[in-house]
Order: sequence, then structure tokens, then C-alpha cells
Amino acid sequence: MVCKRCGAVMEDGAKVCPACGEGSSPELVPLAELSEVPADPEQLHRELLRLQEYFAPVMEKYETMEDLWLMASHWREPSITHWALGGLFAMALCWLLLWGSETGLNLETSGLPMLVWVIVSAGGYTLSRHQYTRNKQRKDEAALHVENELRQHYNAAENCFLPFEYTAPAAMRELIDGLEKGTIQSFEDYRVRMV
Ligand SMILES: [Zn+2]
Repeated sequence: MVCKRCGAVMEDGAKVCPACGEGSSPELVPLAELSEVPADPEQLHRELLRLQEYFAPVMEKYETMEDLWLMASHWREPSITHWALGGLFAMALCWLLLWGSETGLNLETSGLPMLVWVIVSAGGYTLSRHQYTRNKQRKDEAALHVENELRQHYNAAENCFLPFEYTAPAAMRELIDGLEKGTIQSFEDYRVRMV
């Protein structure tokens, strides 16, 4: 059995792909069954050109989906250390300002730099954490939406023997190029080389 998303070989009857996790997300539209891969290289070439044409109108969506997933995975979590250091800097600044002011540093004002540190560090961290979660959620939702649109288009393809990831424009071009230049003889060759 082959994973419908990434093409990895799976144990028969397995629900979730060990390579890409396909089948573990209930929010994603399930992928249609794969058709038989044409064994004859010429027929395979023809079929690939047909599929390339079928997927051409949604080409840009593949790029959008990849960009969105990439962004979602590279989104940096706010760092408590950075905020603590930022707070320390603000505290030093506050302390310097007090030092320079007429009142000077006395018992009433000496607690202020400390307070500044706590407010900047804890407040800044909490706010950026909140923003991070909200932005990440928004990006994840957008990526999910685009991927599901593509999955619907994919599922409507006639006799599609390519796993979902191989229908992305770059993968499809590579496959067709490989067949034309003779570096690969079959889809199996390509799949094995990719792993
Ligand atoms: Zn997979």
C-alpha cells in the first residue's frame, strides 16, 4: 500500500502514514484512491502530460499552500529570555533617568526601575505570546483552506496515479523532464530516488 499523499510505502491497512502523517488530521479532505501507474513509459509520459494540464489552472495554489505551510512552521515563538533582557535594558534606562533627575535615587523611586523591568518583561512577553498564537492560528487556517481546495481538485482528477504531493508543479515538471531525458524509466524510479 502506498501513501496517497507522499507516496511512501505503508503497511496494508495502516490508517496513518508514518512518513508524512497523512490520515491523522480530521480537518483535511481525505484523498481519493490512487489509480494504477501506467507501466509503459510512453503511456506514462502521455498520462503525465494530461495530468499536468489538469493541474495547471491550480498551479499557483500549490505555491500558496507551500508558502503558507512554510511560514506556519517557521513562525518564531516569542522568547522569554529576550523579553527579560529587554526589560533589563528598560530598567537600566529608567535607573539612569532617575539618577540624572533632580530627585536623585531615593527610597521612593528605587522600586520604580524594578517595576519597569517586570512590566516590560512580563507584559511584553504575554502580549507577543498572544499575538504569536493568533497569527499562527490564522496562518494554519489559511494553509488548511488552500490545501483542502487543492485536495478537492485532486480528488476530481480522472485516473490519477500520482500521490497528492507529486501533483505540485515542480514535482510534475521534474517527472516529465526525467522521462524525456531518460534519467527515469518509470514513476517507481522517481519515487525511489525522492525518498
Ligand atoms: Zn505519507
